[in-house]
Amino acid sequence: MQKVTLAPGDGIGPEITSATLKILKAAKVPLEFEEVKVGKEVFESGNSSGLGPECWESIHRNNVILKGPITTPQGGGYKSLNVTLRASLGLFANIRQCKTYAPFIKTHHPEMNVVIIRENEEDTYSGIEHRQSQEVAQTLKLISRPGSEAIIRYAFEYAKAHGRKLVTCMSKDNIMKLTDGLFHRVFNEIAVDYPEIKSDHQIIDIGAANLAAHPESLDVIVTQNLYGDIISDIAAQIAGSVGLAGSANIGKKYSMFEAIHGSAPDISGKNIANPSGLLSAAIMMLTHLGISAEAEQISNAWLCTLEDGIHTGDIFTETLSKEKVSTSDFANAIIERLGKKPEQLTPVSYKTTKLSMDFSPSQELEEKTLIGCDVFLEWREEDRSPEKLARKVEALSSDALPLSIITNRGVKVYPAPPTEAFKSDHWRCRFLTPNEQPLDYVQILELLAQLHKAQLDILKTEHLYLFSGKEGFSRAQG
Ligand code: NAD
Repeated sequence: MQKVTLAPGDGIGPEITSATLKILKAAKVPLEFEEVKVGKEVFESGNSSGLGPECWESIHRNNVILKGPITTPQGGGYKSLNVTLRASLGLFANIRQCKTYAPFIKTHHPEMNVVIIRENEEDTYSGIEHRQSQEVAQTLKLISRPGSEAIIRYAFEYAKAHGRKLVTCMSKDNIMKLTDGLFHRVFNEIAVDYPEIKSDHQIIDIGAANLAAHPESLDVIVTQNLYGDIISDIAAQIAGSVGLAGSANIGKKYSMFEAIHGSAPDISGKNIANPSGLLSAAIMMLTHLGISAEAEQISNAWLCTLEDGIHTGDIFTETLSKEKVSTSDFANAIIERLGKKPEQLTPVSYKTTKLSMDFSPSQELEEKTLIGCDVFLEWREEDRSPEKLARKVEALSSDALPLSIITNRGVKVYPAPPTEAFKSDHWRCRFLTPNEQPLDYVQILELLAQLHKAQLDILKTEHLYLFSGKEGFSRAQG
């Protein structure tokens, strides 16, 4: 029998896990569960990842983990257990379905049924951050073509397998033309391979507003890590209770399923938490493993329970509910309804469809030509006058690699008319060869040596390349 690693987690985790397991056992799901400890206890035993060696061994044996919520202890030094698991297991896709169950659960959006597919491994979540000067810190946003191709193709494959009609890409490519521009371009390229599915693009800010105001106009959303993190919480919130939704983290080899909510310490140990989030994650796990008949039976019994007005406190309302029940009684009510189908809510029916994961990167190597560099300096002297810095730097640069512009916080300050805008101590000096002449890396080293000798504080350099003759760097604003 297939084994699954089971991590009940912290707070309400053990209560909702035991309710979920009871339902799975009653439905005779052909799985064996191997329980491991993760989270608070492991963190507090001195393991900063919250994951002990027996947990890793179990995951590597079973490839699938059903995980309860984790309490991250307050204070520094602890790593995000979820980020560690996602990165170590190659879980590139996060899938969260946010659906409403009107008229049985209170909602402003009775027709909402949105699936958010979020890239799970890159973006600002790579966690590459530096404090560079007295005044400025940076985080690196890394977006790769293979990473974008994998998540976008997965979104279309998901839509195809689940009979979804529209895939919407959300990005901010009007501002981040290289990173988000790449994501949007890859989306357009891949959409062509799925002519049966409609596709569109929305700028993330208006997209998030549309999601909050008209979620019924959206079907499948595919987006990057940070945007996906934010909009999937908005979606869960407007769908009703955070206690209802589950999420799947999918990789080529491993997969992890969990409720979207946290460990809810305020209600822990009271047997009142809604186990639906973890149950819905478990249902996603069953369909992922091809155990579709049992997944369907549990899902329909759960819908019947909601329809019969048997509700936990978080979704209970005097007008729509009939009985307020505990976690364990909610599980018992689902078990009593196994084999039944809902009468008003649409019964689910799951097909066993394995999503194609053959996402081999398509990239062809392009001709890459070095034509300049951005040198970042920390500088606070001489009233922070851009002209004075420019005179200093120009005297140190050569005709082969002259100073082109200086920017401060991305805004061009030299050559430029004087501005009242605050200037930080973090300056970018851009050097470009005349007429895009190819540059030897040694010329950059010589320039850096000159700047260093003049006691300028060099923070970092970025190389400026042409790719097949096109600029691989952004222009300055202003
Ligand atoms: P939370 O999701 O735990 O709780 C937010 C609110 O929702 C609380 O009022 C809680 O009682 C309620 N709630 C959550 N789940 C519920 C359920 N199943 N049934 C009924 N009500 C429910 O968020 P939080 O309070 O910000 O975080 C608590 C802890 O959980 C923190 O340590 C946080 O780091 C952690 N957390 C973990 C995960 C995870 O492991 N995936 C996700 C989010 C937060």
